[in-house]
Amino acid sequence: LEGEKIFISGGDSDLAENVIHLVLARTPGSPKGTKGLSLFMVPKFLFDAEGQLGERNGAKVVGIEEKMGIHGSATCTLALGSDRPCRGWMVGAEHQGIEIMFMMMNEARIGVGAQGVGVAAASYQFALAYSHQRLQGSSPDQLRNPDAPRMPIVIHPDVRRMLMTQKVLAETMRSLLYRLGHRHDLMENFPERAEVDNMVIDLLVPVLKAHCTDMGFEASVLGIQVLGGYGYIGEYPVEQLARDAKIASIYEGTNGIQALDLLGRKMRIKGGAYFMQWMQEAGQLLAAGKEAGFAAEAGALEKSVQQLAASAMHLGGLGAQGKMEAALLQAYPFLQQFGTVQLGLEALDQAIVAQRVIADRGATPHLQSKRLNLAFYVANLLPRATSLGKGLTQGDTSCLDPLLFAAP
Ligand SMILES: Cc1cc2nc3c(=O)[nH]c(=O)nc-3n(C[C@H](O)[C@H](O)[C@H](O)COP(=O)(O)OP(=O)(O)OC[C@H]3O[C@@H](n4cnc5c(N)ncnc54)[C@H](O)[C@@H]3O)c2cc1C
Repeated sequence: LEGEKIFISGGDSDLAENVIHLVLARTPGSPKGTKGLSLFMVPKFLFDAEGQLGERNGAKVVGIEEKMGIHGSATCTLALGSDRPCRGWMVGAEHQGIEIMFMMMNEARIGVGAQGVGVAAASYQFALAYSHQRLQGSSPDQLRNPDAPRMPIVIHPDVRRMLMTQKVLAETMRSLLYRLGHRHDLMENFPERAEVDNMVIDLLVPVLKAHCTDMGFEASVLGIQVLGGYGYIGEYPVEQLARDAKIASIYEGTNGIQALDLLGRKMRIKGGAYFMQWMQEAGQLLAAGKEAGFAAEAGALEKSVQQLAASAMHLGGLGAQGKMEAALLQAYPFLQQFGTVQLGLEALDQAIVAQRVIADRGATPHLQSKRLNLAFYVANLLPRATSLGKGLTQGDTSCLDPLLFAAP
């Protein structure tokens, strides 16, 4: 193989005696586009049938990218065949490369979604700890008393709002992550339900990848805000978390590409069958929520599910009329709307489960907080979905006007 690959995570290391790259490349005379790609196994060291390592292969790192964050992960420029021949072994059949790569795509995207969840949870933990240590301001009922004792910032309503946003995002995203992991396990172990599980996983993977990485970044930025000045400097780890979090919305397919996958592919497969299945399951959860005594929250969520369906119908209509640009313009807001509704459903599910566990084993603050999570989410975060739905059905295409964005 000959050529160069940029942005290769962990492109080389001495942690293992050999490094095997999976490389997409084109055989001579192959068609253009992704359909012409084949997949190759390219080892750093060649080896024989017994696995005995031999001479160095011509795949080598020629540079390391300087990045905004994730400094623990070396991002490399890899040269193939630059100073000696680089040998690769084809995996699967010729031109089957993209198809095979897609087999690991879902898992990789779920993994990147997990990075968003992890960063949100870590930032919340640091912010929570700091909010108990930092003394600033007095309690709200002592505002006019200059001699009032300085209080830990955790008592201030605005700090509590930020902590709660972080907590609710981290916990609802974790719930979505585990939901997909659980459905994956069920799919693999119970063939009779595999088709249905696969539909839901396929539909929700771009939502998890994009929405949880965006919300992970939002939560990490809130962590900086909770710490004030100390949030912005390197003595505390929250600024690093924000820098580390940003890449997750970019690699493994940018979030914009995830939105295209959701709207352009997943929503259209089998005439919208995946979304219909999702709607049906959402309906079951909402009914369970009403039965469990969360009628007001379930009612608000039900409305947001209906609004999401209306957005889907609207965008499907644009596609049917051939207004592709107008539909693509709204792909991302649609994914955000979907993610916002989905996390609300996670909050409801967690509240139902917590209520059951409390009845069985007694209350703990952690379990009781799930009811508060739900109330907070529905009142403060769910309205974002309504606003997104309103925006995307307005039909505004001003940013598509050719008048705009001439080359500077
Ligand atoms: C730290 C790091 C590690 C990485 N590790 C790896 C790795 O190990 N292996 C690997 O193969 N790759 C890796 N990558 C590459 C990474 O997956 C890509 O950078 C990423 O998918 C975005 O592609 P791009 O950089 O070509 O951006 P572009 O495709 O140039 O995108 C630029 C902008 O245009 C938008 N855009 C592009 N096309 C469209 C379209 N058709 N419709 C709408 N919007 C569009 C994008 O959403 C984005 O906002 C890594 C990158 C980084 C920064």
